[in-house]
Amino acid sequence: MMQPEPTPPNADLTATPVPEQAPAPAKLTEVSSLTLEGLTRFLTEELGERAFRASQLYRWMHQRGATSFEEMTDLSKALREKLKTRAEIVPLVKDAEQRSVDGTIKYRWKTRDGRYIESVYMPSEDRKTLCVSTQVGCAMACTFCMTGTLGLKRNLTPGEIVAQVHAVNREVRKLEKLETYRPLSNLVFMGMGEPLHNFENLKTALKILQSVEGPNFSHRHITVSTVGLVPMIERFGQETDVKLAISLNASTDEQRSKTMPVNRKWNIAALLDACRKFPLRQGRRITFEYVLLRDFNDSDEDAFRLIELLEDIPAKVNLIPYNENPGLGFKTTMDERAERFRELLTNGHVAAFIRQNRGRDIAGACGQLANRGGENASESTQNPELP
Ligand code: SAH
Repeated sequence: MMQPEPTPPNADLTATPVPEQAPAPAKLTEVSSLTLEGLTRFLTEELGERAFRASQLYRWMHQRGATSFEEMTDLSKALREKLKTRAEIVPLVKDAEQRSVDGTIKYRWKTRDGRYIESVYMPSEDRKTLCVSTQVGCAMACTFCMTGTLGLKRNLTPGEIVAQVHAVNREVRKLEKLETYRPLSNLVFMGMGEPLHNFENLKTALKILQSVEGPNFSHRHITVSTVGLVPMIERFGQETDVKLAISLNASTDEQRSKTMPVNRKWNIAALLDACRKFPLRQGRRITFEYVLLRDFNDSDEDAFRLIELLEDIPAKVNLIPYNENPGLGFKTTMDERAERFRELLTNGHVAAFIRQNRGRDIAGACGQLANRGGENASESTQNPELP
């Protein structure tokens, strides 16, 4: 037994004792947002645990997609209890699911703060691709895009970005009766939001998704698409090794500035300059997405200008037939015109493909993600301020 401290002889015994403060409830650490390195630091430095416990916890979250500490049965009960008081895995709750006739499934998730985001699952013969969101809403305000009408609500955390992948893996496993924990083979960051406008969280999410102790996606199977935030393209090239896609969508600055406000800050010349400097891995090309808008950017002259623009860039063009959104005022290019456009590009030695339109019947196609019926549509904060 410890002896109580003797009272010092000159202590003021009449002073009011300071009432014992109840300790403020500690903020829970979002462990699903940490890289293995970060998680190891948290477990060893904050919780006084051994490092291999971090690997166990990480594998539970990012290989098996566990969403509660309870199910991590090879962690001691005491550790699971401790984790519950100090840490959390932030869940995405499935709110709606829509299936297209072409096999595409659009999932709508509710975040903890009551926001809605969407991910689109696109199975094909040789791959299972997920289109992932990086923000709630988007600040880029492209005039043809439905998400652009929402304004930016907030960034997704790394954990919320990764959680879309885990959740869809879980759904697909159930749906297709698969044994494997990771049915998804490819990821495209082309959902709601501008990935390079949430770069730090995107980077952390990529680290987790590419980690061997996690889902172990190959850099060859991940593509990030950007509206063209020029300074961020450089950082993206230096700090990640995944594939780059650029939403070009126009053949002149006049056109592009009309539909994509970002072009008023970084025009086509600046954007393509960043592309020329981009550190491309052996055999890789930059994908340029070009949404075909009838009588706006789909003429022969547009095709010729595009050939010239991309002349000295290892490029591949994905022509996207416009998915019409009520009220936005643009029309889809006719099939024959799209085909002619593609042919002109090919003849000009630019590899071009017409992207198959997926999920149109469920508004799950490009530029249609705006969670109709969700609360995001209200109190829009249009924020054209660019970083
Ligand atoms: N903000 C990023 C990621 C979103 S990708 C980016 O802009 O690249 C979404 C793609 O769909 C972009 O290439 C965009 O140009 C395209 N898009 C937007 N609205 C569309 C629509 N209504 N129909 C077809 N494609 C659209």
